Amino acid sequence: MPSNTIQQILLWDAAKLAEALLLDVASARLEVQYLLQHVLKTSRAWLLAHPEAVLSETQQADHDALMQRRLHGEPIAYLLGEREFFGLKFKVSPATLIPRPETELLVELALQRILPHDKCRVLDLGTGSGAIALAMAHNRPAVKILACDVSVAALDVARMNAQRLGIDNVFFMQSDWFGALDAQLFDLIVSNPPYVKEGDPHLQYGDVRFEPPFALASGDDGLRDIRHIIIHAKPYLDCGGWLLLEHGYDQAVLARELLQQNGFGEIFSVCDLAGIERVSGGKLV
Ligand code: GLN
Repeated sequence: MPSNTIQQILLWDAAKLAEALLLDVASARLEVQYLLQHVLKTSRAWLLAHPEAVLSETQQADHDALMQRRLHGEPIAYLLGEREFFGLKFKVSPATLIPRPETELLVELALQRILPHDKCRVLDLGTGSGAIALAMAHNRPAVKILACDVSVAALDVARMNAQRLGIDNVFFMQSDWFGALDAQLFDLIVSNPPYVKEGDPHLQYGDVRFEPPFALASGDDGLRDIRHIIIHAKPYLDCGGWLLLEHGYDQAVLARELLQQNGFGEIFSVCDLAGIERVSGGKLV
């Protein structure tokens, strides 16, 4: 049997990946399947139905190149160029954070505050790939969302995502938090800002090593940007408007305190699927 059948590649490469990245073999196998699907431009079903198929020389070379990059730790989402979030496919590049499952909680909590045909105005601060804004816009076509980011490269990715998803109720703008905004009022402000402590050992492992540091780290206590957003949000929120923020595993108490000190009421925190308080928010009263 030639050694480059799909079955062999899955077996060998999954073992290699599992060892290099300390993954369990099932996850490693899934990753190799994703890479093969990408290189062969095929479905998972086809792959599983053709274990004996042999890769052409070019396909094998393309697969090997991706495997090498993955073995060095590059995130699978950057290698595939996309990641699913809230049921939608998003293009991602090293210019943006990779959308994470826990951020879907922020979208759910934001959507709960908007009735299906509500024409409310939403601001997404630090939009990155546009995942939060576009997932909201897709589910609430009547809302108008302004999505800002300080990074032009990230905004390019976000605009491309809007176009690919056929979403036309999100408007993009370069802004350092509220910095470039005209005086205007929103009904809802959402943000997944950077919130990891500068120098946190967590930044040395896994995918985060390849993600833009300015999208992850936020001062010595990880709260620099959250503090800035909470302190400056008030003039941009209509009466009764909500501010919802994603934050780190140990930041809920401080986020609630900051919200309380800055004129917010109905303050709450909600846990993600891992049971960690992940999103906090409040209403301008
Ligand atoms: N949840 C991310 C992590 O721990 C951080 C995302 C962020 O800073 N907004 O890697």
